Amino acid sequence: MNLPDMHSAEAIPPEARAEIDRLLTSGDLFRYTAATDAPVSLLEAEFAEMMGTRFALAVSSCSAALFLSLKALDLPRDARVLIPGFTFAAVPSSVIHADCLPVLCEVGEDYRIDMVDFAAKLPGCRAVIVSHMRGHTSDMDAIMTLCDAAGVPVIEDAAHSLGTTWNGTKIGTIGTIGCFSFQSYKMINAGEGGIMITDDADLVAQAIIMSGAYEHNWKKHPVLQDAFAAHQNQLPLYNLRLSNLSAAVIRPQLPHLARRVVDGRRNHDHVAELLGQSPHIHVPAPLPGEVRAPDSIQFNLVDMDDAQVAAFVAEAAALGVKVQVFGASADNARAFWNWQFIPNLPDLPQTRAMLMRACDVRLPVHLPVDTLDAVASALLAAIATSEGAKAA
Ligand SMILES: *Cc1c(COP(=O)(O)O)cnc(C)c1O
Repeated sequence: MNLPDMHSAEAIPPEARAEIDRLLTSGDLFRYTAATDAPVSLLEAEFAEMMGTRFALAVSSCSAALFLSLKALDLPRDARVLIPGFTFAAVPSSVIHADCLPVLCEVGEDYRIDMVDFAAKLPGCRAVIVSHMRGHTSDMDAIMTLCDAAGVPVIEDAAHSLGTTWNGTKIGTIGTIGCFSFQSYKMINAGEGGIMITDDADLVAQAIIMSGAYEHNWKKHPVLQDAFAAHQNQLPLYNLRLSNLSAAVIRPQLPHLARRVVDGRRNHDHVAELLGQSPHIHVPAPLPGEVRAPDSIQFNLVDMDDAQVAAFVAEAAALGVKVQVFGASADNARAFWNWQFIPNLPDLPQTRAMLMRACDVRLPVHLPVDTLDAVASALLAAIATSEGAKAA
């Protein structure tokens, strides 16, 4: 069976077309031109309502949301910000961009923050970014207990966790601020875009101004107007706004989220069960309390040497499935040793060992079950072939 392009996206719902046509006809693409009800403002209201938070600010990317979150926390220059050693390069980049210093903590074989190392490195840090990498939720109870006791704010990088819940609570609403992405490989696809949510009026007021609500454009945000007064003309404007056109692509996808989450989880669990038959593949289980929203699968290769790992990747590619071993593919942006823009980049032996055996395969939520079976068969066949490749 020919496997589809695993980066293919679901079609944008046709309901988007009438609104895009209206925007093209009127030329009204800037979020702050209309007096009320601009598509970006409506998106913010709908997203906040969906997540059950007071405020949402739509911006140009999740990276922009992370950066604005750090700026809104008003951290001093060179403040230490604790992040996991397994995440996308956007996370340490946002810390550097905010003139802060990333502190990396170890991640376990289950891709989640190692709580012993986290607790050891938290003292001295002024903020934490919990990156739920590939939608794997770290132990938010343990993290919030430690951070609340230390008075350290938590930013959730929930770029890949839209629709995930933790003991019934939506991921992205547990920390002080939650940040999401609308980049094409996430649950909602606008090509580019991001959004941050919070219940803190003063934080969101600052983020709104810095995102580019110059002069009195902030009056178009339904936030306590008092929150803005102290910040007028006091903050730099970074212009990280979202266009109405992007909002028009995103809004009609929101009603599809629940279905995509269910389909993605069904696809993931189906493939995980098939792959789990191999003694050379381990798919880490979710944490108790975590209900995931995956659009990809991660698994660890067990009892395989480097030559066998390389043979597995090559054979899977030949059979039509692109597998990335995070630590073995060249210049992978999720391997911490490639974040050489961080001063005094540390080694993280445990995270490094995980990255050398952890595989990443996309599973777009719209794949039908026979395709999923074919993906799993190809991976299992590649494992069988790779066994012969053991280094002498
Ligand atoms: C995609 C992603 C980002 C970056 O999102 P952008 O919208 O592309 O800036 C950050 N963190 C994680 C975990 C991601 O998956």
